[in-house]
Amino acid sequence: LVSRENHPDRSTVTVRGVPIGPDTVTLIAGPCAVETTQQTLEAALMAKAAGATLLRGGAFKPRTSPYAFQGLGEAGLRILADVREQTGLPIVTEVVDAHDVALVASYADMLQVGTRNAQNFALLQAVGAAGKPVMLKRGMTATIEEWLMAAEYVAQRGNLDIVLCERGIRTYEPATRNTLDISAVPVVQRLSHLPVIVDPSHSGGRRDLVLPLTRAAVAVGADGVIIDVHPHPEQALCDGPQALVDGDLDRLAAIMRDFPPLV
Ligand code: PEP
Repeated sequence: LVSRENHPDRSTVTVRGVPIGPDTVTLIAGPCAVETTQQTLEAALMAKAAGATLLRGGAFKPRTSPYAFQGLGEAGLRILADVREQTGLPIVTEVVDAHDVALVASYADMLQVGTRNAQNFALLQAVGAAGKPVMLKRGMTATIEEWLMAAEYVAQRGNLDIVLCERGIRTYEPATRNTLDISAVPVVQRLSHLPVIVDPSHSGGRRDLVLPLTRAAVAVGADGVIIDVHPHPEQALCDGPQALVDGDLDRLAAIMRDFPPLV
């Protein structure tokens, strides 16, 4: 279903009127985690000023440590809905458990499946049946074939509104949190008709790498990027070191302007 063999034209997925696909380079930005209304609103306004047309923000956070901030849950979803109301930015947010899909879908405009759940087949089937566009991150140890098969689980439930997100894979190299597999972008675009975006924040895990990796992503032809921003990263409850701050946003906007879609 997701292969380009029977579907030669590349697809565009529309999230509440915002296109992600071959004719555009979509900027999705926002906080890694929703912490407060004020923090989420400030991050959303930063994102919008940089040209973002979709707001990211996690209310359910899949954390490596059970002692780390796990997200605000439904209270976080309510904050996202409130900030959508105030900014007009549709919401992309993660769902980590099949039991929460209906709840998250009742607030979200796009459901995100993260790297740790990329082969959670029950979750993939549940998001496939939820009637909302899905952003499927690549599993950190998934081959491209495994990633596309994960997308197939979503598609099988009748939902072809799937955007694939390369977010770095685990390699022997510890200098970055993950290794951004930039060649996956054109490889997957040739194998699948689905749009492919890149997460330069979670792949590098470092603020100073986000803009260079964003340039790489848009230069190679990614259909979009998803980027963490935070008004006060030193106080962030999740992934502060990779969040862009106000001073980075002009350069981010310039990168997005300078690299038109590679059609
Ligand atoms: C995220 O985008 O909030 C996230 C946790 O990303 P990943 O699943 O790629 O680690």
